[in-house]
Amino acid sequence: MAERTLRGARLGGQSFEDERGIEFAARQQVGYRCKQGHEFEITMSVEADIPAVWECPRCGAEALSTAGILPEAKAEKPARTHWDMLLERRSEKELEDILKERLELLRGGEIGPAHLHRANAKKRKASA
Ligand SMILES: [Zn+2]
Repeated sequence: MAERTLRGARLGGQSFEDERGIEFAARQQVGYRCKQGHEFEITMSVEADIPAVWECPRCGAEALSTAGILPEAKAEKPARTHWDMLLERRSEKELEDILKERLELLRGGEIGPAHLHRANAKKRKASA
């Protein structure tokens, strides 16, 4: 909210040059149009990076710049999964060996939760 308030500060309609002769940065009107056809202009400094989209003040939808500024293409970097990271370090054969080893430890009761230990599994079956 705070950010939008700041970015959306309307400079238009007011004179920023007062009698003391203070000059404000050169401004420009940037037009936007939302999908509903609402058009509006935002006053920005000529030095500002013009955002490609602005929230429509009437319906809240994303409005596109009418100056033809296109939204930056999002970098299509595929998310690296845990599996991808694993494969960067180990071959599938290595992983299989590690899995076997760990399963043995698990079933042997050396690692992991007790209900997965082989001895307990047998006990459970026996009492069932
Ligand atoms: Zn709108």
